[in-house]
Amino acid sequence: PCDVAAAIRNVAARQGELTPDRQVDLRLAADLPRGLVTDPVLLEQILANLLSNAVKYSPESEPVGVVARVEQDRVAISVHDNGIGIGEDEQGLVFGRFFRSKAASGIPGTGLGLNVSSRLARLLGGTLELSSRQGVGSTFTLRLPLVVSTETDAA
Ligand code: ATP
Ligand code: MG
Repeated sequence: PCDVAAAIRNVAARQGELTPDRQVDLRLAADLPRGLVTDPVLLEQILANLLSNAVKYSPESEPVGVVARVEQDRVAISVHDNGIGIGEDEQGLVFGRFFRSKAASGIPGTGLGLNVSSRLARLLGGTLELSSRQGVGSTFTLRLPLVVSTETDAA
């Protein structure tokens, strides 16, 4: 099981070591499950990819944020930035292997992070969705099934 808030804090802390000057705002609902039945390593991998993109594709002066909340039968975790955004013509392509937007040329990357992340989201029974406006910013939202373990054991 996975403590969702702890997983998000881990990812933010690791990003903070890489980019200490960047503001990362966390808004974590108080009712996030501490025993979500999911793989914490894969969850952190997805979030680390999204957060590193948010930082990489937005100006240093702009904060990035993570918002996590419980929906009916899902946990929703959104990572947002006020960055270069992704045009409507390219939004259907970003989860494809090796895709890189025109606006990202000059910014290093392989185009694998989102492809891997969307596959991992599906492996965990969840979804990964994008909402973006070119030149304004992007929000990537990961939703996972809200299945909570009642076991008290930390294993
Ligand atoms: P890496 O494999 O190292 O993550 P990458 O960042 O280029 O390389 P992805 O994370 O898969 O690859 O992202 C694919 C492309 O989608 C990026 O090259 C960029 O064009 C676009 N993109 C991803 N995240 C954002 C974002 N937050 N804002 C704007 N564009 C983005
Ligand atoms: Mg990336």
